[in-house]
Amino acid sequence: MEKTPVWYHKGLSFKCTGCGQCCTGSPGYVWVSEEEMQTIADHLQLSLESFRKKYVRQVGERFALLERPKNYDCVFLEGNKCQIYSARPKQCKTFPWWKENVSSSKAWEEAAKRCEGINHPEAPLISLKEIEKDLH
Ligand code: SF4
Ligand code: SF4
Repeated sequence: MEKTPVWYHKGLSFKCTGCGQCCTGSPGYVWVSEEEMQTIADHLQLSLESFRKKYVRQVGERFALLERPKNYDCVFLEGNKCQIYSARPKQCKTFPWWKENVSSSKAWEEAAKRCEGINHPEAPLISLKEIEKDLH
């Protein structure tokens, strides 16, 4: 039997404007694996232990970057720029290609309310192949 194509099989419009909104706004979790923590610690020239103490919280058995209590900014957001951009975790690199965001056209429209790059007038159409490469 043929597989039903996903609703976004013709691609989706997205272009990051660098506004920084996905790094702030509401409480959330930027999850980091052991490997990602090591990568960021190396990038900051810190030991893994110092990095963890300064920038990471444990949530159950997982780890997440700290956020600033007043505005929920990610601890690495300065102005609208990520201070660890080249070493940022996969969760950040792959946004907005998260399963929850593309689970339905409604979910995609909801994500667009928080990210101006989604359906941006200047955004190119990202093909299904490219989306699936980053989807997680
Ligand atoms: S909210 Fe969207 S457009 Fe703004 S920085 Fe994040 S991904 Fe880019
Ligand atoms: S690590 Fe960088 S890209 Fe990821 S949420 Fe924090 S500031 Fe944003």
